[in-house]
Amino acid sequence: MRAFSLTAVPSVEDAVQRSRPGSAYLAGATTLVDLMKLEVLHPNDVVDINALPLRGITVSADGVRIGALERMSDVAAHPHIAAQYPVIAQALLRSASQQIRTMASIGGNLLQRTRCGYYRDVTTPCNKREPGSGCPALAGGNRMHAVLGTSKSCVATHASDLAVALIALDVSLRLYSDAGTRTVRLADFYLLPGETPDLEHDLRPGELITEVLVPPLDWASRSVYLKIRDRESYEFALCSAAVALDVRDGVIADARIALGGVGTVPWRMRAVEAALRGARAGEAAFVAAAEQAADGMKLLSDNGFKATLATRTIVRALLSLEV
Ligand code: SF4
Repeated sequence: MRAFSLTAVPSVEDAVQRSRPGSAYLAGATTLVDLMKLEVLHPNDVVDINALPLRGITVSADGVRIGALERMSDVAAHPHIAAQYPVIAQALLRSASQQIRTMASIGGNLLQRTRCGYYRDVTTPCNKREPGSGCPALAGGNRMHAVLGTSKSCVATHASDLAVALIALDVSLRLYSDAGTRTVRLADFYLLPGETPDLEHDLRPGELITEVLVPPLDWASRSVYLKIRDRESYEFALCSAAVALDVRDGVIADARIALGGVGTVPWRMRAVEAALRGARAGEAAFVAAAEQAADGMKLLSDNGFKATLATRTIVRALLSLEV
């Protein structure tokens, strides 16, 4: 591990002023310190933002505002979120260990880096870590890798469970920089790898996530997060589904479906949603709609199973909702 300076700042203005090339913000430290120990990241200046006033969960007619420094465990335990947005609470509870959930911030969770083993191993090439060096996952071990949104430069999956639930709910982020504040839809925030997999999101130099804005959606109380993985705890998704259904008199009025573990970014399944709308809720409609999920998938040597797994994950998640 290399030498670095560590400075705690009291305000968002101070944090932004301290930001410069080679610096990094530190919140829960559950990603940054790991990657510093592995020599994947080596900031010169670490800016501790834990004292910033970015806590609190506010419920209003406009939805829910979650401070970016709220801890994962606190958000999952919030009574309104647990009751009205169970898909958020469940995504958080199925992420990482209790110890990590207690430390990790919501903003940091959304910015966590991929779990691709090549990215975390500095003895191997990796276009995301070292642009232009190559992508050994294309012809190497790629069982965990993506089948949607991939490019010839990178096939890494996005690691956040929370982001999958938030994409399904059409959440936005509030961002702050010395140029002012702006609001960005989370779906527009994440970038496909293309030829520049090192650029993962639309966060400008020095910019901070200050709030997560969850819009009102009364039928999100009928939602679920199903995560399929190799073991039942402390493991990343082979495939996950964030699902919400609006059912009236047995007919599906609206649906939200997003998948994790299959895309280079959290993947909204709009074709599946469209196929569900207007159908009578039940297994036959769920199976028929879920078939759309495999469209456009580019399977690699070791992860062809994800096409079938994705459709089955969606069906199982839908069946678990009481309709
Ligand atoms: Fe690096 Fe992406 Fe290839 Fe993994 S999949 S080795 S993160 S370029």
